[in-house]
Amino acid sequence: MKPEHAQGDLTEVLHTKEEIDQRVAELAAQIDADYGDSDVLLVGVLKGAVMIMADLSRALAGQYPMDWMAVSSYGSGTKSSGVVRILKDLDTDLTDRHVLIVEDVIDSGLTLSWLLANLKSRGAASVEICTLLRKPEAAKVEIDVRYVGWDIPNEFVVGYGLDWNEKYRNLECIAVLSPDVYS
Ligand code: 5GP
Ligand code: MG
Ligand code: MG
Repeated sequence: MKPEHAQGDLTEVLHTKEEIDQRVAELAAQIDADYGDSDVLLVGVLKGAVMIMADLSRALAGQYPMDWMAVSSYGSGTKSSGVVRILKDLDTDLTDRHVLIVEDVIDSGLTLSWLLANLKSRGAASVEICTLLRKPEAAKVEIDVRYVGWDIPNEFVVGYGLDWNEKYRNLECIAVLSPDVYS
């Protein structure tokens, strides 16, 4: 879906498809350079991270297995509840594995800080984070994030995997959702 197909619902396009392609390629090059030949498991957080996982994994030069988790922290609204539940767990044993969590957006950081602690407790050799977007003004907890696509303003965004009530995930760019849509 192109932004013109959802125009009335969006107030601003923050990053176009072309900008995302370019930035994801840069992140992939950095990840390849940092990890070298070590075996790294990409852990995607469903469902928001499907697009970045698909594009990032294909932009990587090395061999990176992937696995998925689904957690819930939001319900159907637009604010994090801080209560995290595992809806789908990993299939992979993390003992002594290097793990790179692939996320769509870090808002309050509550979900990821919980996930970090959870994955570390399984005996992973290392756990790092790659997120396409981060909202510094919304942070409620400090998280050490190794790879960030962009810092964005504290607004509710959709597209490129990010939804509102399961809508707009297939929008090709990242855009601010008009508050008229959800208020
Ligand atoms: P946090 O726990 O960091 O507040 O929120 C994490 C999750 O909330 C994200 O992985 C994402 O699923 C959802 N989320 C946070 N901010 C946004 C946003 O601006 N747009 C959308 N669509 N989802 C968001
Ligand atoms: Mg997410
Ligand atoms: Mg969502």
